[in-house]
Amino acid sequence: MSDPVPVSDLPFITSLSELSKEDRERFGLYLPSGHRNAYRVERMKGHGGSRTDPSWDRTANQHTCCNSRVYWRHKVACPLLELNGE
Ligand SMILES: [Zn+2]
Repeated sequence: MSDPVPVSDLPFITSLSELSKEDRERFGLYLPSGHRNAYRVERMKGHGGSRTDPSWDRTANQHTCCNSRVYWRHKVACPLLELNGE
């Protein structure tokens, strides 16, 4: 199997149902264990975050925008995501 598409090249999607099984495998959405790669799925849904985001509070260990305690993911209702959405 070839290496999956780099995270930075993943397309944005609204729902996983937009993707065929081949797409999902190509985008590396399945871990060897068979579980979903939640990080990649959240990135593709536009919820991806980073420790380098201005909203990430290193002291409180959460995003100040939506109180998400997971640095790589904003909550669905995050106000920053609404600003960035189309
Ligand atoms: Zn947020």
